Amino acid sequence: MHNKTIAEISRDLASGEYSSTELTTDLLNRVKQLDGDINSFITVTDEQALAQAKAADERRAAGNADAWTGVPIAHKDIFCTNGVLTTCGSKMLSNFEAPYDATVVSKFNDAGAVSLGKLNMDEFAMGSSNESSFFGPVANPWDKERVPGGSSGGSAAAVAARLVPGATATDTGGSIRQPAALCGVTGLKPTYGRISRWGMIAYASSLDQAGTITRTAEDAALMMNVMAGFDPKDSTSVDREVPDYTSSLDNSIEGMTIGLPKEYFRDDLSADMQQQVRNAIAEYEKMGAKVKEISLPNTHLAIPAYYVIAPSECSANLSRMDGVRFGYRCEDPKDVEDLYCRSRGEGFGNEVKRRIMIGSYALSAGFYDAYYKKAQQVRRLIRNDFTNAFNDVDVIMGPVTPTPAFKRGEKTSDPVEMYLEDIFTIALNLAGLPGMSVPCGQVNNLPVGLQLIGNFFDEGRLLNAAHKFQQATDWHLKTPADI
Ligand code: GLN
Repeated sequence: MHNKTIAEISRDLASGEYSSTELTTDLLNRVKQLDGDINSFITVTDEQALAQAKAADERRAAGNADAWTGVPIAHKDIFCTNGVLTTCGSKMLSNFEAPYDATVVSKFNDAGAVSLGKLNMDEFAMGSSNESSFFGPVANPWDKERVPGGSSGGSAAAVAARLVPGATATDTGGSIRQPAALCGVTGLKPTYGRISRWGMIAYASSLDQAGTITRTAEDAALMMNVMAGFDPKDSTSVDREVPDYTSSLDNSIEGMTIGLPKEYFRDDLSADMQQQVRNAIAEYEKMGAKVKEISLPNTHLAIPAYYVIAPSECSANLSRMDGVRFGYRCEDPKDVEDLYCRSRGEGFGNEVKRRIMIGSYALSAGFYDAYYKKAQQVRRLIRNDFTNAFNDVDVIMGPVTPTPAFKRGEKTSDPVEMYLEDIFTIALNLAGLPGMSVPCGQVNNLPVGLQLIGNFFDEGRLLNAAHKFQQATDWHLKTPADI
């Protein structure tokens, strides 16, 4: 049962192949057996999951089921869940129980899905390797010495290890696409504003976006059908009609124009990685797509701009974690200043502190124009590169990461080295565009991802392109050896 996709589970539940209770029990047992080594869950909500499954089975018996009734998923621990711990991977929130559900969570609850629990992540979603979680690193199911990517490493590892068929995730600079690529699963980061951010703990508000990690593009479409849409509680969510994302999955690729940015195929990408990506593009050509070389000339500015904007916004967002309004409080504070300093000093990990310091510096009087404002101007240039490119092409394709999964500890001593992991993913967030990562090959028995970048709100086309690729290839079906 655990090898089934969301689409298959939905059909099996409808035909009575097995019940939601049987499936949920099976997956919870797998989590118990396998997750000790992987560490993809922070909280497993057994009782609640079994109660949801039972309710779903009863609804089905009464003839009131639909596509999502009784289908199991799990949530990245950045989404607030009523009465269940929401830690954001931090000691700061290690005892935080939100009094409400995030919009994304309530949409899945309303659809009748079963939540198995909350998934591990880099602390406050800062990282590319899932080594900064207060709850310990997550292992990559393909090689447990290696990182699963970050920050949604728990989501990607859980789906890759077949502990759950789909998971919610978030992407501020690559945190859906990069772990999906390193774990050999499918990740979708939608257009900024397509999904409500309400109840999703803010990292960098102008970049954060919720999305999906699944085995297939078809499953991503099914999750998007639940998640997408306007939310009056999030002023940046966009009031725009939500299509049925499954309806365009089978459209023909014939005549689709694919742009290959020459800046994405340079020295940053090893010959092995290039080969895998080029093979995937060749597959599209076989399906009738046309390929065109394009240029995104400001690509090299994406990392510097992001690593000013994201820390600036995080320094403001995390100021509420002060031991009074939210979060961990130190023991026996001497006075109020001691309370703030020690609560924040003890509650945040090193990477979060580093970002808060960079951000506070960049936003301080006298430096604001030189850093934050300048970075925002660069951001516009990067967005313009994409807008110009989409005058000529339908989809842009390239690599997701410069290398396959690296070893734990390999990049932790050099933050800049870690930031360079995001070189192909970050520009999209700065522009607000949607992107996907689709398994497209292997290097040294480790998965490699193909990145698909779409125009604003063109998720349907991305899902279509990814689905057609998955019908023609079997990279997304490959399973880690001991899973
Ligand atoms: N790796 C990037 C960072 O550390 C992106 C993280 C994310 O998308 N949440 O900021």
